[in-house]
Amino acid sequence: MNNIIIVGGGNAALFCAYELIEKGFKGQVSIFEEGKDLKYRDCPKSKAGKCIHCNICNITAGVAGCGPKTDAKVSLSTAVGGYLPEILGEEKTQSLINYMDSILLKFGADPKVEGLEDNEEIRDIKRKSIAAGLKLVDDPIRHLGTEKSTELYQRLEEYLISKNINIIPNSKVTDLIIKNNKCSGMIVNGSTAYVADKIIVAVGRRGASWLENQCKLHNINKLPGTMDIGVRVECRNEIMEKINKYFYEGKFIGYPAPFRDKVRTFCQNPGGFVAQENYEGNLALVNGHSYKELKSKNTNLSILVSHSFTTPFDQPLLYAQKIGELTNMLANGSILVQRYGDIISGKRTWQNELDKSNIKPTLIDAVAGDITAAMPYRTMTDIVNFIQMLDKVVPGFAAYETLLYSPEIKFYSNRVAMDEHLNTNIQNLYCIGDGAGVTRGIAQSAANGIQCAREIMGEVE
Ligand SMILES: Cc1cc2nc3c(=O)[nH]c(=O)nc-3n(C[C@H](O)[C@H](O)[C@H](O)COP(=O)(O)OP(=O)(O)OC[C@H]3O[C@@H](n4cnc5c(N)ncnc54)[C@H](O)[C@@H]3O)c2cc1C
Repeated sequence: MNNIIIVGGGNAALFCAYELIEKGFKGQVSIFEEGKDLKYRDCPKSKAGKCIHCNICNITAGVAGCGPKTDAKVSLSTAVGGYLPEILGEEKTQSLINYMDSILLKFGADPKVEGLEDNEEIRDIKRKSIAAGLKLVDDPIRHLGTEKSTELYQRLEEYLISKNINIIPNSKVTDLIIKNNKCSGMIVNGSTAYVADKIIVAVGRRGASWLENQCKLHNINKLPGTMDIGVRVECRNEIMEKINKYFYEGKFIGYPAPFRDKVRTFCQNPGGFVAQENYEGNLALVNGHSYKELKSKNTNLSILVSHSFTTPFDQPLLYAQKIGELTNMLANGSILVQRYGDIISGKRTWQNELDKSNIKPTLIDAVAGDITAAMPYRTMTDIVNFIQMLDKVVPGFAAYETLLYSPEIKFYSNRVAMDEHLNTNIQNLYCIGDGAGVTRGIAQSAANGIQCAREIMGEVE
């Protein structure tokens, strides 16, 4: 085997390349990345004060992918973050996550692991969760922090380059070359074709709809996908104090009446900042992150509702996109924010009402309005009822002034079908990470990349 191409230069891609080197791959590995090199990925928002809708978003695109531009809370258990345990088994996935963690430490991650404590306060939170009908997932987390993770990924990138990995930024892969169920290469920027022995598609959430189109075009088999739609909630640190202190990130799962859909909290950022990220077609989505040192007075977290669709509907990505677009339309292309109490009272939120609250929104260019005008009834009911359940564990969570930002959507619905060796139905083609719908976080996407490298090397050994 002479050469391997990785489409997308994000988290899964870098860990895959790392492992190919570790396993002694002697051929050429080339990584084609749509965005800029990591050292040039500056989000102009910090200077402009608001999102200026860059052509290619420096938060979601660029070498190292979303990893270095996120808060990077890396979950060290298999309980969350994707379907890898389903594909590879729990034990193998855990061992890959442990190995991934050793690489993070090698490249300078903070050795402290959050969420390992056990005391009376923690047991009390667990008791209250049971009484409220919520499951509390208390897995260990390594928190890198946005600024530190950029440095870590920079070191990882430099290491890969020193080992002759060819990282090519500003190169969007526009098509895969597939004939007779065999992939032989891909086309960059609509014109230049490259051939390779193996092609690994690792395009992240940003490339999820592109990959969905490629699946249709080239008959790459898919599994029915789920879609997570929800809101980003922001409240004062005082409200979340105990969860922040003992868990850093408390992951709650519930199935509120009447629909009994799966609703969960995700990506909690104590002292963090709500953020906007832009996707293809200028779709503005809300997210959150926190820094190791710079802290706000607020905690944010997302509440996500899982949506599964049954026949004949098979366009979950488009469904979520439409909700996102409708919400953006109501906010003139931005993120909408509304007080929880206003949602319950059936009224929109006005900017001057936000100014009177204890809590000041950390996403300063979010537009006060009515998120219920765009959110489907079922999703909104799930969110409201879940917030009321969580209020029993975290008193004050359902306060009038609690802020809900929308749209928060997780694009991982198009799930590429693969066997336990990660083979797709197309020869020589692997699809890994968030874009393939396999993973939903740093740990499992990295683990997926590592395992993909091992599978490929297994073939050449
Ligand atoms: C704001 C934010 C906060 C997050 N916080 C956390 C967190 O705290 N903890 C956690 O575990 N996870 C977090 N995540 C998720 C985590 O970053 C992802 O799960 C992880 O990066 C997925 O890795 P990936 O390689 O699959 O995709 P990515 O890291 O997204 O990389 C995909 C890359 O492919 C490129 N690409 C896409 N299409 C093409 C194409 N056609 N041609 C060439 N290149 C292409 C993209 O530009 C991108 O750089 C967060 C994500 C965001 C956006």
